[in-house]
Amino acid sequence: MSLIDKIQAAGIVGAGGGGFPAHVKAQAKVEFIIANGAECEPLIHKDFELMLHFPAEVVGGMKLVMDATGAQKGYLGVKAKNKQAIEALEKYLPGTGIEMVILGDFYPAGDEYELVYLATGRLIPPAGIPLNVGCVVNNVETFYNIYQAARGSAVTRKFVCVAGAVKKASSFFVPVGTTFRELIEFAGGTTVNDFGIFIGGLMMGSLTFDLDEVVTKTTSGLIVLPKDHYLVGRKNRSAHNKLKIGKSACDQCSYCTEMCPRYLLGYDVQPHKVMRSLGFTTGGKAVWNQFAELCCACGLCTLYSCPEDLYPKEACDNSKQEMKSANFKYKQEKPVKVHPIKEGRRVPLRQLRHRLQVENYEKHAPYLEAMPEVQSVKIMLKQHVGDKALPIVSMGDSVKEGTLIAKPAEGKLGSYIHSSIDGKVTHIAEDYIKISR
Ligand code: SF4
Ligand code: SF4
Repeated sequence: MSLIDKIQAAGIVGAGGGGFPAHVKAQAKVEFIIANGAECEPLIHKDFELMLHFPAEVVGGMKLVMDATGAQKGYLGVKAKNKQAIEALEKYLPGTGIEMVILGDFYPAGDEYELVYLATGRLIPPAGIPLNVGCVVNNVETFYNIYQAARGSAVTRKFVCVAGAVKKASSFFVPVGTTFRELIEFAGGTTVNDFGIFIGGLMMGSLTFDLDEVVTKTTSGLIVLPKDHYLVGRKNRSAHNKLKIGKSACDQCSYCTEMCPRYLLGYDVQPHKVMRSLGFTTGGKAVWNQFAELCCACGLCTLYSCPEDLYPKEACDNSKQEMKSANFKYKQEKPVKVHPIKEGRRVPLRQLRHRLQVENYEKHAPYLEAMPEVQSVKIMLKQHVGDKALPIVSMGDSVKEGTLIAKPAEGKLGSYIHSSIDGKVTHIAEDYIKISR
């Protein structure tokens, strides 16, 4: 079996949140393989813990993909502040062709466009992908999973960080399909009674109040914050109100654009112009929508730059959706040119945490070897980019951890799904399969 087949059979998808099937990327022929260990979402530290405790697996996974893709060079992006992880990884680098790319503690250091530029000096063409400039980029956990797949292990566990208003901020493996309730209990429970849960991060993640939601292959972590916290209130407004407030209050100061990392990298993203689209009800919006096309949804404009606490990122989301519905794709004609002030407009994580009012929650989230002992798991059939996987098991079937339970339809982009515990199939629904011990 080739490495690509093993990656596909193991059901590996981008573990950093993207969820793109990893076997597709590994089929490419490229010059550079880049591991993204930048981890810039405030309070989440699971990639640091993974690199610190599993450096051989991360480097080994990179080397396997370098060999499969013909890449001569690998780059491993890690923040300078994560000294212990750098020391741990460096031991495994000699003779591999892999070099460290040391990053500052800024947000967002892990955007693919940014990382490719920092590592190789190449700028991805507007609306392009790293492959266009000879690169494949994966999160460090994806490389860890590739290393395990080469040894026959499927993705049945997810490495997560649970932080914020919990008694024991920590990082640990957990069976895919575990509920948020069990994750939070494993982290010692919450320190407040009423809370919201940010899935995958404060900047780019989503907010839920539902403890029965479950971990998927892309869940990087949970951040618990009190229900009356500034950020919960900000995030919890209805989509309609977010846009309505912007329509009436935006004074076109353009701070959102001036601080936008994609704009500073030379892409034609201008959220202040996108905000103008909110003032149009019939024709005319399309002119302003196009300045959202290359937005990476980092959230900096909404949660950091806008002095009026408006929602330019959400306006960009809305504009992108409208362009998609109209089957329109904006093409940047002018050349991509890095803004001369780019380095001077970096946003330090410390400053960002202050703006988000979460400084008090910043703490070490150490790796725990133990795992939550779950009695059942609810495994979602769509945890990835592409089509939903189709069940191949029946009610009452006995399964083991690693048994294939669903796979994509023939010829469709998607991912294989495996049982994450030993047990019996107790429910098959439209969107998930439940397995109980
Ligand atoms: S920073 Fe806020 S007020 Fe200023 S242009 Fe952007 S959305 Fe409008
Ligand atoms: S979310 Fe805002 S700051 Fe981030 S890329 Fe989009 S427009 Fe720029």
